[in-house]
Amino acid sequence: MSFKHKKKYGQNFLTDQNNILDMIIEVSNPCENEEILEIGPGEGALTELLLKKSKRVNCVEIDTDLEKLLKAKFENEKKFNLIMGDILEVDLNEVLVSNTKVIANIPYYITSPIVNKLISHRDKINEIYLMVQKEVGERICATSGKERSILTLAVEFFGKGEYLFTIPKESFTPIPKVDSGFISIKLHKDKKYENEISEELFFKYVKASFSNKRKNIVNNLSTLHFSKDFIKEKLEILGISPNERAENITIDKFIELANLFENK
Ligand code: SAM
Repeated sequence: MSFKHKKKYGQNFLTDQNNILDMIIEVSNPCENEEILEIGPGEGALTELLLKKSKRVNCVEIDTDLEKLLKAKFENEKKFNLIMGDILEVDLNEVLVSNTKVIANIPYYITSPIVNKLISHRDKINEIYLMVQKEVGERICATSGKERSILTLAVEFFGKGEYLFTIPKESFTPIPKVDSGFISIKLHKDKKYENEISEELFFKYVKASFSNKRKNIVNNLSTLHFSKDFIKEKLEILGISPNERAENITIDKFIELANLFENK
């Protein structure tokens, strides 16, 4: 009997009519000396290729109905390590070794929490390659314009996001409503922004600036209890118009802004 896909787990499996799996392997380039973390192996289509190219593949899968199937498929594979559980609950400190590469077609309903969790383990992770909903991928990697959000800045602060290619929805079973995008996030090993400002201060100003997308920067920053005159004066020093919106402010300007507002 064939597997019954569960919508609640975002189960759209790659069928690979368009050589998508080969493209994923080509751009993510898993190597013999690298350990891979795969979130949601499903029926193991991508896992099979990752096992051929890497040192070890650590898979985290929530659906117990897939456990037997995966164990049978990879029963003779010493490099295969299956952890059954919710990726958001699993203690990754027990799974990850240094220089781990993440390569996964993730469940889209928890994209932001997954990205945030992976970033929080950046001491062990070098590069992240994810298949996500196309629009979300474009938002995560947007360098300018209204697609930018707190998540864009969160990724930018810790790494460099890049939108690599689009995967048409027909490449999945069952066919989802939306196309997908494959993205990479290469984490800044030199901590280039973390050395300039604390994470806490940076996100205090980023979150306030994006608190209401329809409002301008002055109104949004006033949620931090500064007077509007104070905000306008500081923005003038920074060369930012009082009518500007958060999406048009670069990461460098945000760091300058936070430091100036904090008198640093
Ligand atoms: N990698 C497979 C492929 O490309 O065909 C399956 C990808 S499918 C989009 C997402 C997978 O993540 C499913 O296997 C699903 O059961 C699993 N999953 C869903 N929620 C999860 C969670 N919270 N933790 C771990 N795995 C999860």
